[in-house]
Amino acid sequence: MHSERPARGMPRGQASESDTDTSLHVEDSPRLGHGGSFKPANIRVKKDIYERARGRMVETQIMERGVKSKEVLNAMLTVPRHLFVAEALYSQAYNDYPLPIGEKQSISQPYMVALMTEALGLTGSERVLEIGAGSGYQSAVLSMLAYKVYSVERIHAIAAMARKTLDGLHCSNVIIKIGDGTLGWRDEAPFDAIISAAASPRVPSSYIEQLKPGGRLVIPIGTEESQELLRITKTANGTVSEVLGGCRFVKLIGRHGWQQPRENPR
Ligand code: SAH
Repeated sequence: MHSERPARGMPRGQASESDTDTSLHVEDSPRLGHGGSFKPANIRVKKDIYERARGRMVETQIMERGVKSKEVLNAMLTVPRHLFVAEALYSQAYNDYPLPIGEKQSISQPYMVALMTEALGLTGSERVLEIGAGSGYQSAVLSMLAYKVYSVERIHAIAAMARKTLDGLHCSNVIIKIGDGTLGWRDEAPFDAIISAAASPRVPSSYIEQLKPGGRLVIPIGTEESQELLRITKTANGTVSEVLGGCRFVKLIGRHGWQQPRENPR
């Protein structure tokens, strides 16, 4: 596996402390669903002025650090990352760091997205649960490599933006739901793969429960300041964990993650 420590510049934004309700049950939450077809998305983009920047990003940030999967590299070359950030940040979208997406959240560093996606070992037939849709960028990459992507996001405004961008790219095999992703998505379980773009102090038991035997979970686990990226494979008699490297992600806030910080505590 990748032994190098993932590069600097992990998502740094702090999770929003307002506008959300962690008591929201995933099962009861509104879906920003899509009635479209379910198969790996075939994202086609017109030639754009960022084509060279995307190519350089893949070569220097992703291939040179050891990501080898042709499918993952192709998805990273194809998905127009700049469309997932504000226009004022377009020119930075292919740089080697995360960027703010509003609500004190961030779009993950390109390398992290590639590393985590490769670690899931997708072949095109999988049903994948994603926790923390954020900008929708990771969802778009996953949508090219999996049959269907179920993404949970706790902040409504962020989920709505992700939906809009994904619709613009015809990623109709991505469904986004608003709610506490630490509960997983019970109605749609079990999943072939689960990916969390937010860090947790411990592995939420719901994720292991909602994985198929042989399924893979990729999640950053640790403290608020620093975590280890883990790949946990569910086996017939338990789980096997591998450490993929060090990292820093925003907090997973919910019942089985960190508590929602109280505003104006007295
Ligand atoms: N992969 C995303 C990264 C988003 S950052 C991207 O590339 O844009 C992590 C996201 O996790 C944030 O949007 C945050 O709101 C969300 N999040 C944190 N705790 C969550 C929870 N319990 N359930 C769902 N989403 C959560």
